[in-house]
Amino acid sequence: MDCGGGHGVTGAIRDCRLGRRAVSEGAIQIRADSFVGERPPCPRECPGRLHRHGFYRRYAAPAGSEFLTIARYLCRRCGLTVSVLPVEHLPYRPVKVPRLEAFLDGQAGVGTGPDPPPGLLEAGCLRRAWARFQTRGSHLQKAFDLRLPSVIDSARDLWLQMRRAKRSLAGILDFLARVGKQSLLGDYRCLRLPA
Ligand SMILES: [Zn+2]
Repeated sequence: MDCGGGHGVTGAIRDCRLGRRAVSEGAIQIRADSFVGERPPCPRECPGRLHRHGFYRRYAAPAGSEFLTIARYLCRRCGLTVSVLPVEHLPYRPVKVPRLEAFLDGQAGVGTGPDPPPGLLEAGCLRRAWARFQTRGSHLQKAFDLRLPSVIDSARDLWLQMRRAKRSLAGILDFLARVGKQSLLGDYRCLRLPA
């Protein structure tokens, strides 16, 4: 579940809160919808193509044995390793983006939650994601800045306003990655270019 230096299946763990390891020097994680084409450009804007650099795997969902393969690329000019997170996934959390979006809508009172309803493990991960989201208000408001109303009085209101501004959780994640170099539930170091 790390961002850059994965260790294959044996290194994958399912805990939806933990799994963060020290990021190897010179690594960054980007979203698959942040570039066009078959492989990403170097985030440091080096000229030339990045080279395939293996992959790592993590669990694709809170339950089941499905694995998600995360491709890695290497910039031979600057040594940066770039891992590409598929759009339906979040850094470090096994809950899938459409399921989390439906859950957050439900918490905000504008939907009935994921369909089909989550099983025990997924429900726990979704509840923890909501609890985490509730602590992220000031970070997220700062990242969205003038795109949100100046007064937001609850996590429910924040979610609805972010939804209004970017339409979907995928749109919110894309925006946060581009502008704030962060994600919905964490300001992860692996989303920033190493110094
Ligand atoms: Zn580079």
